[in-house]
Amino acid sequence: KAKQSGKNRYQLYNSEICEIMREKRALVSELRKAIQEEELNVYYQPLFDLKSRELIGAEALVRWFPKGKDSVPPSVFIPIAEEYGLIDQLGYWVLRTASEQLVSWQNTKQSLIMSVNVSYQQFGRSDFVESVRNVLQMTKMPPHSLHLEITESTALINLAHTKHILHQLQMSGVSIAMDDFGTGYSSLSCVKDLSIDKLKIDRSFITNISTDERDAAIVKTIIALSRNLRMKVLAEGVELPEQLEKLAEFECDEIQGYLFSRPLPADQFEALFLASQSSSA
Ligand code: C2E
Ligand code: MG
Ligand code: MG
Ligand code: MG
Repeated sequence: KAKQSGKNRYQLYNSEICEIMREKRALVSELRKAIQEEELNVYYQPLFDLKSRELIGAEALVRWFPKGKDSVPPSVFIPIAEEYGLIDQLGYWVLRTASEQLVSWQNTKQSLIMSVNVSYQQFGRSDFVESVRNVLQMTKMPPHSLHLEITESTALINLAHTKHILHQLQMSGVSIAMDDFGTGYSSLSCVKDLSIDKLKIDRSFITNISTDERDAAIVKTIIALSRNLRMKVLAEGVELPEQLEKLAEFECDEIQGYLFSRPLPADQFEALFLASQSSSA
């Protein structure tokens, strides 16, 4: 009897897996089509200087709205794109689109920067640096306006390779930001061994910064670390005024989060950006 029900449970489990696999395969082919037909979108989340509250740039975040269906979040489709070899094309498209966009916004404000996420697979390709240089040339984007975000886990896959690539990118004028800083297994090794221009403190440390002394101490320490090593530091996921207050007290350089703005489609970002320009002028 027990054996029987165990077997049934196994079969149920098995059919659920089949169903999940089927859905995943369908998603993969839809994603492939979406990339080919440019059904993806790039949204832009504003980045601010904490002290002056000036809008200093944007992070490009890819969005997918399949026709007639609910949108699929990047936390779902990026890993699928990585698993099925679609991320190179997708990542290159985001980089090119965001760069073209920035160049047009720079007609209004020259100093605006664009921060673009790089997947570990793009980063591992032998022609990655070349593809970045191609985009810079093609779009005439000033290299110092481009910030590439990599995570600690991407950086640590092959430290020697990472050192080499970061050096080449920085020689071209491109800046490097360490994304989700503090969530990896050896955050300190990353900053010890690599040349990094900016730390982006992960949202998980910011969430309770005003109520949890330990989180506050960690954030304060990361900010001091970045100062001592001459890196910029940005806080991700700032949602509340009391979080901002703490970050101001700790003298964090830059902020990003829903308190200021969600990621926006290009036209809405532009409206916000132009409004911020005229109010500061
Ligand atoms: P990320 O690079 O750490 O991006 C920040 C994420 O935090 C974004 O989620 C953004 O919408 C969200 N966020 C920003 N402010 C707040 C806030 O105040 N509160 C909360 N709760 N969330 C906030 P999103 O757009 O869903 O992207 C998730 C992740 O997907 C990104 O994390 C990044 O790892 C990846 N991703 C997005 N676009 C791309 C892309 O073009 N290429 C690659 N390789 N990865 C991407
Ligand atoms: Mg990022
Ligand atoms: Mg991040
Ligand atoms: Mg994050």
